[in-house]
Amino acid sequence: MSTLEIKDLHVSIETEQGEKEILKGVTLTINTDETHAIMGPNGSGKSTLASTIAGHPRYNVTSGSITLDGENVLEMSVDERAKAGLFLAMQYPVEVPGVTMTNFLRTAKTAIDGEAPKLRTWTKDVKEAMSKLKIDADFAGRNVNEGFSGGEKKRVEILQLELFKPKFAILDETDSGLDVDALKIVSEGVNRAQEENNMGTLLITHYTRILRYIKPDFVHVFVDGRVAEQGGPELADRLEEEGYDRYLNVKA
Ligand code: ADP
Ligand code: MG
Ligand code: MG
Repeated sequence: MSTLEIKDLHVSIETEQGEKEILKGVTLTINTDETHAIMGPNGSGKSTLASTIAGHPRYNVTSGSITLDGENVLEMSVDERAKAGLFLAMQYPVEVPGVTMTNFLRTAKTAIDGEAPKLRTWTKDVKEAMSKLKIDADFAGRNVNEGFSGGEKKRVEILQLELFKPKFAILDETDSGLDVDALKIVSEGVNRAQEENNMGTLLITHYTRILRYIKPDFVHVFVDGRVAEQGGPELADRLEEEGYDRYLNVKA
């Protein structure tokens, strides 16, 4: 079992008005095989947490820690984080012109594992994963994210998840812009990766919809850069009925 541990994390960014603190002391422990949902109103700092775990240079950690099995994640480069077993699906995945999906996936897999995957099994694995995610075979020859629809990008994120086999996946608004069919396919992919690879999942979402398909073990409600409440799956059910008003009223 692996553990991703976030302790009293404070994160700020530079703005035109100076330094602004976004995360104001976040503490969270995720073990492999667990699914944690982070929910909360817009602007509460959910994406900031995801970007900080991923090592986005914009976000300054002013205090607190992130460790993976005791290793200091904050000292790792973005590449090292991926090698250590962290996977971050970007909320807005970038286009990489001139790089085909096939080459990108193989290059990334090689970098993450430290050795090239065996060609025959790899090709088979890619084909199978693509077919389960109902990704068209001609995708393999297309450039990374170039002209991909929102739904296609999400499927490709999950394709990476299934192929790279990370210890922890941080999925930020993976449900946004997906119709119900696509949401089911994507959710099944996440559930497969969890079952087959013992993955731990940090599922960041504003809406409860995806939690019908990916069942969280723990739910954390983010408000104004802090965890305002934690609970089990029943907390997501309550949020579905009540929304975030009660937290925002307390704040006002
Ligand atoms: P969420 O994902 O919960 O909607 P974010 O982490 O995106 O929240 O944003 C939290 C707060 O930080 C918001 O007030 C937002 O305006 C601010 N913020 C985040 N990233 C930036 C940025 N790059 N530049 C300016 N403000 C930012
Ligand atoms: Mg599980
Ligand atoms: Mg966000």
